[in-house]
Amino acid sequence: MKRPRSLPVQIFLALLAGVAVGLLCFFLPGGGDFAAGYLKPFGDIFVNLLKFIVVPVVLFSMIQGILSMEDMRKVGSVGLKTVLYFLCTTAIACTVGLAMGSIFDRAGLFPVLDAADTDYEIAAFGGFMTTLVGIFPSNMWQAFTNANMLQVIVIALFFGGAILTAGEKGRLCHEIVFSFYAVIEKLMTFIIRLSPIGVFAYMAWVVATQGAQVLGSLALVLLCAYIAYVVHAVLVYSSAARVFGKLRPFTFFRKAIPAMIFGFTSASSAATLPVSKECAEDMGADPDVSSFVLPLGATINMDGTAIYQCVATVFLASCAGIDLTLRQMVLVVITATLASVGTAGVSGAGMIMLAMVLEAIQIPVAYIGLIIAVDRLFDMGRTCLNVVGDISCAVCVSRWEGRKQP
Ligand code: ASP
Repeated sequence: MKRPRSLPVQIFLALLAGVAVGLLCFFLPGGGDFAAGYLKPFGDIFVNLLKFIVVPVVLFSMIQGILSMEDMRKVGSVGLKTVLYFLCTTAIACTVGLAMGSIFDRAGLFPVLDAADTDYEIAAFGGFMTTLVGIFPSNMWQAFTNANMLQVIVIALFFGGAILTAGEKGRLCHEIVFSFYAVIEKLMTFIIRLSPIGVFAYMAWVVATQGAQVLGSLALVLLCAYIAYVVHAVLVYSSAARVFGKLRPFTFFRKAIPAMIFGFTSASSAATLPVSKECAEDMGADPDVSSFVLPLGATINMDGTAIYQCVATVFLASCAGIDLTLRQMVLVVITATLASVGTAGVSGAGMIMLAMVLEAIQIPVAYIGLIIAVDRLFDMGRTCLNVVGDISCAVCVSRWEGRKQP
């Protein structure tokens, strides 16, 4: 797909303009209300447009990826490599998050806040088996209307496999999928062209309304999470890009900038999917592989979310006066890896899943109330990292499959 050359530059300029206007609103009386009432809605319109195509993008992109691979064994091989890559990088992300959180905690940098006044509603988890059953849809249309992405992925896998094995009789479905996907790609191009407006509006709103929080007591917890995000990106994605993707880390990150800015401002991996796809293919990822890996990644691969959950757990444990033992830390790594897999690629989802990690080590879930106010700021960074993780996987798997043309 052809992208206008200047779009990344436009997105970057929109980000800067958003920060400038946001600062102006922050310091002017009534500026915050203006940003929330008149700027944010333009960002919302843009994200709504992206969200409305997310279900068809994931569905047709995955089916088309499967059909292009032409062989279920190939699909299995790409799928296995993808899931292994996701699990390994997420487990490393948890370790980085825990280590960074512990360093800050030991150094006495985390504030100790009182959770007495928080009234965070506890989300109910049905347990592992119920979650597993819930991945398999009993009603296809419900999966689409609820945008239940794990179910949409299962539907795509089944349909893709069935069309492939139906052979000549499935020819018409095969062509319909390719034709639909071509139309959806066009739609994505139109919508992505509007992205500078969305980036500007969201950035101005965040700076205008949350600037005060950055200066508040949670600044060091935010700083801890952002250092961990950067450490993980530099350690894991740079090495993966160089060793497996045969790309210079600088080139990798430069080409990922549009998706990074987009993930950062929209706080939704699912909404960033069309941009991630363009970036991955710009780095030479094979379109068949990226069509399969990226929708899966935007749904189950959340390294930034895993880091956030670990840092938040160490911080909230310290507020609760709990010193994490080694056993509890291992439990945090396991549950945060699973919780991040279960996190939907939409804004705020990672904070809800944090409850699962806290429950595992018996910290009252109400403690989440202490960090709700700044969740958007954590979320922007973690989503940015989530989408880079997906892109790095698409590049590496393309290379492993020997289909990449750098
Ligand atoms: N907003 C994140 C994403 O879309 C998920 C989260 O809340 O952690 O990737």
